[in-house]
Amino acid sequence: MHILLLGSGGREHALAWKIAASPLVSKLWCAPGNAGIAREAECVPIDITNHAAVIEFCKSHAVDFVVVGPDAPIAAGIVDDLNSAGFKAFGPTKAAGRLESSKSFTKALCRAEHIPTAAYERFTDRESAKAYVLKQGAPIVIKADGLAAGKGVVVAMSDEEALAAVDMMFGGGFGNAGAEVVVEEFMQGEEASFFALCDGEHALALATAQDHKRAYDGDKGPNTGGMGAYSPAPVMSEAICARVMEEMIKPTLRALAAMGSPYKGVLYAGVMVTMDGPKLVEYNARFGDPECQVLMLRMMSDIVPALIACADGQLKNFSLRWFDDAALTVVMATKGYPGDYGKGSVIEGLDQAAMIEGVEIFHARTVSKEGRILANGGRVLNVCATGKTVSEAQRRAYAAVERIKWPDGFCRHDIAWQAVESERAQ
Ligand code: AMP
Repeated sequence: MHILLLGSGGREHALAWKIAASPLVSKLWCAPGNAGIAREAECVPIDITNHAAVIEFCKSHAVDFVVVGPDAPIAAGIVDDLNSAGFKAFGPTKAAGRLESSKSFTKALCRAEHIPTAAYERFTDRESAKAYVLKQGAPIVIKADGLAAGKGVVVAMSDEEALAAVDMMFGGGFGNAGAEVVVEEFMQGEEASFFALCDGEHALALATAQDHKRAYDGDKGPNTGGMGAYSPAPVMSEAICARVMEEMIKPTLRALAAMGSPYKGVLYAGVMVTMDGPKLVEYNARFGDPECQVLMLRMMSDIVPALIACADGQLKNFSLRWFDDAALTVVMATKGYPGDYGKGSVIEGLDQAAMIEGVEIFHARTVSKEGRILANGGRVLNVCATGKTVSEAQRRAYAAVERIKWPDGFCRHDIAWQAVESERAQ
């Protein structure tokens, strides 16, 4: 079968690696892809914001199935347009994708369905938002509605910080995404990621994962798209996962189906495990990046039939097998990220790094030029490893990082500290 994958990050490299391993696939393209994805798929320079161009490619190349990696094309309605043109795709429609693209949509749904989440209020003018902030007091969370590249959230530890965030968002600090601002109760707990494949009606839980959103060691510094991840996450016990499924995922699927926008694709719940049980931090309408990388390394089953079952509404009797081994990924980013950074620095030593047992390197923002790999963005590489334990996977991943010669890059050195501590304590 002919598959087209959309996207160009580390998440898409991991998906390409897993899809390419399926015996069902005779041809895999990726648009636009990156230097690492080119090892698994034929990269095609299509502008994926141009839906007509994507559909034209599907027609001229007899594409059977399209897998959408990132959130932007989902919010832009690529799945609706592909479906209208007669193509099957993995991913939610634009209406179902509002779970990610509109925080206020999700908050209203949580309220209506009694899904546990932080108390909140929505504001369209700054004075009422500020009055509410002062009434509630810090710590408090200020969020811009709409997509802001994962950066539309300020967790304010003081009233001053909260008021400044309100000003920044209403002042256009996140562009149009700040036209509506949500002010939320601060939830105290440990955060983890829960993923479920969904077919509009049924959900199938995937392995658990935890990521590290802050830029620097010790979970310090600014929020980023994610600096590393690992699976399984010890905080996501079977009991917690069962509660997430019953209290969040299932009511969400029922509500969306009742609205006439059934959710198909992967539903990613960011969960805060609090003293009162799991609470929803946010929904995303696609795989997490970098969590996808560790999930793909742990998935034993062929992923392709599972992705098709989501689109076809056939997940009911589906199951997936997983390797017992843990998996971990360390993100290497260009110095300066998530602020300003340069492009074009040379990366060496990747082949030597990949020779370490259990190591797999997924590329994010890389390009290949005259046989060399160059950094081409903020998050550039995912140095991944599997191991019998998270600690073993961590040792292998950092041994691989040591072999990578990239003076302009940096990474965190404590990915999976929670799991390593809990393994040490056992
Ligand atoms: P979001 O984009 O909504 O996932 O928020 C980004 C990050 O901000 C989350 O991953 C949390 O670490 C943090 N965060 C968001 N909302 C809350 C909240 N209500 N309480 C505590 N932390 C939060």
